[in-house]
Amino acid sequence: MTTRERSRVIRWRIGFLPGKPTRCWCAQDNSLTTIAHLTACFHLHLELEVPPNSNIDPISYVLNKLLKNPPKEPHRQEYWSRIWPELCAILYNIDSCCHPDEDFTPSKDPDPGRLLLKWIQSANKNPFDRFSQRHQNLNSLGNDSQSLYEAS
Ligand SMILES: [Zn+2]
Repeated sequence: MTTRERSRVIRWRIGFLPGKPTRCWCAQDNSLTTIAHLTACFHLHLELEVPPNSNIDPISYVLNKLLKNPPKEPHRQEYWSRIWPELCAILYNIDSCCHPDEDFTPSKDPDPGRLLLKWIQSANKNPFDRFSQRHQNLNSLGNDSQSLYEAS
């Protein structure tokens, strides 16, 4: 998580985001940026794949499932690889919507969620990969590989 992503997650958790309601981007019926309105306006149940009958807001629902360790199961890796960048982008949009006077230059938040995705992918790394890759490279050299073993 980048510092800015972490800040948004924490502010959502403690209620500073969305914070004091202001006019929503959609400007429908003078809509304000309450959690209920943002949930509907940003289609949060659909975007974050949260059941419509969940008893908490979709962002908190996903945050409650956050991982302590990189997931090893492919279906969980796939879920987080899909949901986490989406959640970061949604929090960025909600933050910009709720704070129209602040600078939300997209270059300050490039590639949302990439650090958590790298962390998730770290579960796939085998500590013996480097050795086995080197071993395969040397074997592919055929008879000349013996001199490489001796040289290294
Ligand atoms: Zn709206």
